[in-house]
Amino acid sequence: MLYIGCHLSASKGYLAMGKQAHEIDANTFAFFTRNPRGGSAKALDLADTERYNAFAKEHSFGKLVAHAPYTMNACAADESIRRFARETMADDLKRMEAVPGNYYNFHPGSHVKQGTEIGTELIIEQLNEVLFPEQSTIVLLETMAGKGSEMGRTFEELRKIIDGVELKDKLGVCFDTCHVWDGGYDIVNDLDGVLEQFDKVIGLDRLKAVHLNDSKNPLNAHKDRHEKIGEGFIGADALIRVINHDKLKGLPVILETPNDIEGYRAEIKFLRENYSD
Ligand code: FE
Ligand code: FE
Ligand code: ZN
Repeated sequence: MLYIGCHLSASKGYLAMGKQAHEIDANTFAFFTRNPRGGSAKALDLADTERYNAFAKEHSFGKLVAHAPYTMNACAADESIRRFARETMADDLKRMEAVPGNYYNFHPGSHVKQGTEIGTELIIEQLNEVLFPEQSTIVLLETMAGKGSEMGRTFEELRKIIDGVELKDKLGVCFDTCHVWDGGYDIVNDLDGVLEQFDKVIGLDRLKAVHLNDSKNPLNAHKDRHEKIGEGFIGADALIRVINHDKLKGLPVILETPNDIEGYRAEIKFLRENYSD
């Protein structure tokens, strides 16, 4: 089963997102838990989340991959930015329990000249404060392109973070194809090798979701600029191999390509046509 979807606007609530996804032949989706630039979240509408849960069940949706705001930086040098990150994640995880059993993806953060060691410690500290034993949401660390002082470009960096977290069963990884490519992992010529490395360093059991994006830049560019499927340096063939790979089948696949809703509809159609069960 191919679970595929795209980023949707959360402004009209969960049921509206579910219906919009279904309308473009998606069976999962992503959304920002609040304005991506930060700020407060809308009050939760429990009638809406209940209706969504029923809708998702009825239409056999895969797990959602919610996205934390970009401004969340768990390893900022500034204590007030770190506090915002902590409070945002804690609040988001509480709210996510209204749609239980889904994923919450976040960018590990940028260490801004503090170095990766301190960066790692600060991210671990936040996760240990915020994760709670009763949560049904799995928090995903996103693989990053390594732009500026971004943490999480290498599998080793992600592994170090996971190692320091007490509630490890609440943690997973989201594999962003544009980011790993920009980060230096050659998923075009050696997808098997990259996944083997992932397995050796982190363990494939932690791999929970895929962000499927082409890239505007060549391998190892450390840039992070997404491109439409088939129009970038990764190319359609390699991305089709990603969704059909034995080790990745069944994971929710989220498009974060520069598209409007009709563009997403077309990409979903194209990828479904090139998927074999
Ligand atoms: Fe992201
Ligand atoms: Fe991503
Ligand atoms: Zn990106």
